[in-house]
Amino acid sequence: MQFTDFSLDQRLLQTLKHMGIDTPTEIQEQAIPIAQAGKDLMASSKTGSGKTLAFLLPAMQRMISCRALSKRDPRVVILLPTRELATQVYSQLRLLVANTQYKATKILGGENFNDQAKALSRDPHFVVATPGRLADHLKQHHIHLNGLELLILDEADRMLDLGFAEQLKQINQAADHKRRQTLMFSATLDHGDVNEIAVELLKSPEHVSIGAGN
Ligand code: ADP
Ligand code: MG
Repeated sequence: MQFTDFSLDQRLLQTLKHMGIDTPTEIQEQAIPIAQAGKDLMASSKTGSGKTLAFLLPAMQRMISCRALSKRDPRVVILLPTRELATQVYSQLRLLVANTQYKATKILGGENFNDQAKALSRDPHFVVATPGRLADHLKQHHIHLNGLELLILDEADRMLDLGFAEQLKQINQAADHKRRQTLMFSATLDHGDVNEIAVELLKSPEHVSIGAGN
């Protein structure tokens, strides 16, 4: 299988080529078609297996395919447990958006709150965030999630282990509407808290689990 087998925009394929990436990993092969079909997804595979592109590519494609760009709310929110992980995902996202007209920003704990409020007022299409800080901006009405199309939770098990369940629920409720799609990635699906929050956040999810023990 090749990335050209997915219906991905030429610009995304070009960026992948520049990144030296040509063959999808197993999780990408399985997750991308489900995400592109608009279904909710709960997926797990081991570290280093390429989960980031498994959600960034369908997220980018969804933006590119979306005609109505009039709404100013962010379309895609990606949540991660730590600044380091969020920064890694953000840098891959930056490579993908560089070739398009879309704007991305990161909203991380420990960085300047007012600068983040300013960045949010510029109506980014993509927001990469840690849950605590994003929930703070929600409370201050610096961000509205009424137009959110895609919510992605990466390393969901770690977010829950770090005590972010309440913030995840707040973000979920602020973005609670019928059109929203949710993708959840976790090192394991065999985690009681992950399953509990999945019931609340995901609608009839497909399950993909790659690798031993799952
Ligand atoms: P995970 O989130 O599953 O731990 P990452 O998404 O961080 O894994 O990817 C790990 C590394 O593999 C990154 O450096 C990424 O650029 C690279 N990578 C991702 N997809 C592919 C691919 N299809 N072919 C080759 N390398 C890839
Ligand atoms: Mg990852």
